[in-house]
Amino acid sequence: MTQGSYDIVIAGGGLGGATLGRTLAGAGARTLIVERETTFRDRVRGEGIFPWGVVEARSLGVLHLLLDDGAHVVPFWKRYLGPGVTDCRDLPATTPAHTACLNFYHPAMQRTLLDAAQASGATVWRGAEIVGIDPADEVSHTSVAEIRMDGGYHRVTARLVVGADGRRSTVRRMAGFTVQRDPERLIVAGALYEGLDAPEDAVHHFPCPALGQTSLIYPVGRQRFRTYFVSCAGQLAHPVSGSAHLAEFQAACANSGVPHEWFDHARAVGPLAAYPGADSWVEHPYDRGVVLVGDAAAASDPSWGAGLSLTLRDVRVLLDRLLANEDWDAAAHAYAFEHDRYYGALHRVHDWLAQLLYERGKFADERRARVLPCFAMEPDRVPDIRGLGPEAPSDEAARRRFFVEDGLLPRDA
Ligand SMILES: Cc1cc2nc3c(=O)[nH]c(=O)nc-3n(C[C@H](O)[C@H](O)[C@H](O)COP(=O)(O)OP(=O)(O)OC[C@H]3O[C@@H](n4cnc5c(N)ncnc54)[C@H](O)[C@@H]3O)c2cc1C
Repeated sequence: MTQGSYDIVIAGGGLGGATLGRTLAGAGARTLIVERETTFRDRVRGEGIFPWGVVEARSLGVLHLLLDDGAHVVPFWKRYLGPGVTDCRDLPATTPAHTACLNFYHPAMQRTLLDAAQASGATVWRGAEIVGIDPADEVSHTSVAEIRMDGGYHRVTARLVVGADGRRSTVRRMAGFTVQRDPERLIVAGALYEGLDAPEDAVHHFPCPALGQTSLIYPVGRQRFRTYFVSCAGQLAHPVSGSAHLAEFQAACANSGVPHEWFDHARAVGPLAAYPGADSWVEHPYDRGVVLVGDAAAASDPSWGAGLSLTLRDVRVLLDRLLANEDWDAAAHAYAFEHDRYYGALHRVHDWLAQLLYERGKFADERRARVLPCFAMEPDRVPDIRGLGPEAPSDEAARRRFFVEDGLLPRDA
């Protein structure tokens, strides 16, 4: 068992861990990033950052790295509302920071950012796994992480241990955080296609509330497209997952509105995997020298595509606090309070959307029949979660306006 000492030990070299480690190492902190995988593979993960997340990427200094690595700028969000009916949002023209979406192949993004962290001076252990945590106590003020690597065990101490180890975080479990979970309302299945016959300048969004289904197509560059099918949990006889179900997956996408001919010359170039569409989160994600960021702190329902943006927000807020305050315990508490606020805001709006678009039954059908036509006339009834993210209004007045319970008829009704 070897020993070592760092200012900060980060579990996970994903978007959250690598971005955080890069800046802290660049600022002179002795930084260790521990990443389980030796080679990043397609895990069917987030590949589209919303404009508000792109603003975070820019302020964290990683936007140019992603662009240099071939990330794909997507200026339009195109919604298909029925045969021949579309609306096309010009994101740079209509978002507060005049910003497009940024899409990429997730494993390439991880490789680029982890290499950048190493180039900034972070020590990176690959094929290494955090397997145990002793949180700081009143006497030592340091936490201990136990790491398995090359068949041996290493104990390292740190002023701060960061769990950036994703939705099934080991650090979170080992440090004793309590995880809250929403009921599994939706199922999200996704696969990567090459040669899909869809324009590459837009995210293609096919909401089908009548069926409780949605398809989404994110171009990630070079004629590759991450394609998702979202349905209500229990609606299909079994989750569409595994390559044997690709034909079924394509048929489901076509059923919710994707032109079936888009698939004529397409081939799947990665796994087909399905995930629960539900949030899991920790309230106040800091305790005794252990802080959580990204999916470990709050994995937002993938159907809303906000996880990458939220992860970048976490990293930016935590960094701002750590770099401004020598007292890292106080800094991490300040981050955790702020996290509760902005994650809570986003979670509320996602919940309204899920209720409106996916709930089944007579009441839900009547509500959709009342509310959706109002959105067509007054789109600003829907909080702008792509442009503003958690800063979109999410208070009671916004909720009433969203569900058209504010007593105000649409302006031009
Ligand atoms: C199906 C699906 C679709 C999604 N689509 C979108 C989307 O379109 N847009 C969007 O914004 N978000 C999307 N997301 C969410 C997005 O992928 C996540 O929010 C984001 O990847 C979180 O980044 P992270 O760095 O916190 O964690 P991760 O990306 O999960 O990275 C964690 C890293 O930690 C490593 N690790 C895990 N355990 C250990 C350990 N014990 N020791 C050491 N290393 C460890 C892992 O190997 C991994 O590299 C989607 C998620 C899913 C599941």
